[in-house]
Amino acid sequence: MSRFRMYPTSEQAGIMLDHCAHARYVWNLAVEQHSHWRRGRKAAPGFAEQCRQLTVARRDNEWLAAGNADVQQQALKDFAKAKNARFASGFGEPGWRKKFQHEGFRVIGTDRVPEFEPDGSPKLNAKTGKQVMGRSVVVQKLNRRWARVKVPGCGWVRFRLTRGDLPKAKSFRVTFRNGQWHVAFAVVPEPIQAPGTGEVIGIDRGVKITAALSDGRKMNCPRLTVKEQAQIRKHQRRAARAKKGSERKTAEHAKVARLRAREADRRKDWCEKTSTTLARTYDLVRFEKLNIKNMTASARGTLEQPGRNVRQKAGLNRAILAQGWGLLRQRTEHKAPGRVEDVPAPFTSLRCSACGWIEKRSRKSQADFDCVSCGFTCNADENAANNVAAGQGGIPRPRRSAGAGGTTVAAGRSSVREPQPTRVGIPLF
Ligand SMILES: [Zn+2]
Repeated sequence: MSRFRMYPTSEQAGIMLDHCAHARYVWNLAVEQHSHWRRGRKAAPGFAEQCRQLTVARRDNEWLAAGNADVQQQALKDFAKAKNARFASGFGEPGWRKKFQHEGFRVIGTDRVPEFEPDGSPKLNAKTGKQVMGRSVVVQKLNRRWARVKVPGCGWVRFRLTRGDLPKAKSFRVTFRNGQWHVAFAVVPEPIQAPGTGEVIGIDRGVKITAALSDGRKMNCPRLTVKEQAQIRKHQRRAARAKKGSERKTAEHAKVARLRAREADRRKDWCEKTSTTLARTYDLVRFEKLNIKNMTASARGTLEQPGRNVRQKAGLNRAILAQGWGLLRQRTEHKAPGRVEDVPAPFTSLRCSACGWIEKRSRKSQADFDCVSCGFTCNADENAANNVAAGQGGIPRPRRSAGAGGTTVAAGRSSVREPQPTRVGIPLF
C-alpha cells in the first residue's frame, strides 16, 4: 500500500464528501440485506444481483442518481470482497459504516494498459488470442514533490508525493479522517531481499521497551510528548465543560482527535521504518506469539461480578495498543514474506537464555534478569529476546544436571506482563 496525503480544493472536498456518503449508504444497504439472512432462507443477493438492484435504485432515487455510479458500484465490490474474506482477514463479518468515522470510497482506474505475464511476455486471452488490457489509475507527476490523480467528478486532485516513483495501481481508495484526506493506491509492495547472512533476530515486545532485539538493541515507538498529552487533557476538559451540542464542544473534540491522529501517524511511521530495517538486515525474524486481542480485553466484568483494578487495566491496555505490536509484526511479514516466525510466548521472559532454566525468581525486577541456577545476569528484555531468537520459551525444557529446582509454583498474581499458562506447577524433571 502506498498512501499519500491529498490536498483537494474546498470544492473538490465537497464532492468527495458526497462520494463518501454515497459509498457508505450503499455499503450499509448491503450490510442490511445480508443481516436478514437466516439458516434455511434463500441466500442474500450477491455482487451481480446487487449491481442490478443499484441500477434500479438509482433510477428511482434522485439523490443517489446524482452521485457517481462507479463509486457506488465499487462500494458493493468492496463489500463482496470483505464478505468473502471475513474468515481470513481478521476483521470478521463486514459491519456498519458510520458518518465521520468510516469516510472513504474506492475508485477503479479508467486508463487501459496492456497486461504482461510474470516472465514479461504479453498476456493473451486464452480464447481469442488478443492482448489482455488491464485497468490503471490516471496519475501524473507534477514535480518532485507533487503529483495529481483523477477522481471522478472532481477532475485532478493534488497529492503530496513523499516517495520517488508514481504508483502503478489498478485502483485506489480515498479516505477522510480527522480532517485529512489521503489516497492509498492498491499495490502489493515488492518483497525485500533477504541479506543472505543467515542471521536470526528475536524480538521481545513490551510496554516499557517496545521492541527489545536479541542483539541488545532497544527500540521505542514514539509517543506523544508530555506537552502534547497535556494539550489533550486540556481540550478534553474544555469539551466536558462546553454546553451539550454546542459548536465549541465539537471543536474541542476535533482538536483532541487531531492530536490522537498525530500519535497514530507517528506510530505507523515508526512501524514502517522498523519493519523495513528488520526485513533488510536479518534473514529470519522471530516474534513471540502474542494474542493482543485477549491481552487487551477489558477487566470491567459484569454488573453482578465487577472486575478488579479496572482503571489500571484500561491504562495498561491503552499502553499496549499504543506500542503498535500487531502492526510491526504484520508489516514485517508483508515485507519479508516467509521469513517471519512466531515463537510461543509463555516463559520467554522467565527462561534463562544461557542455561534454559525456567524460574520466576530469576526475574528480579522489570529490568533485571539474574538466573538462580547458573548466575547468568542480563537485561530482562534482552534475555527474553534471546529466547525468542532461539525459538525457545513455549515448552519448559527439562534440565538433567540441575542442582536445585523441583517445580516452579505460580504465585497469586503474575508480575510479568505476558500470557501465562493456566497450569499451576510445572515439573521440570
Ligand atoms: Zn541460567
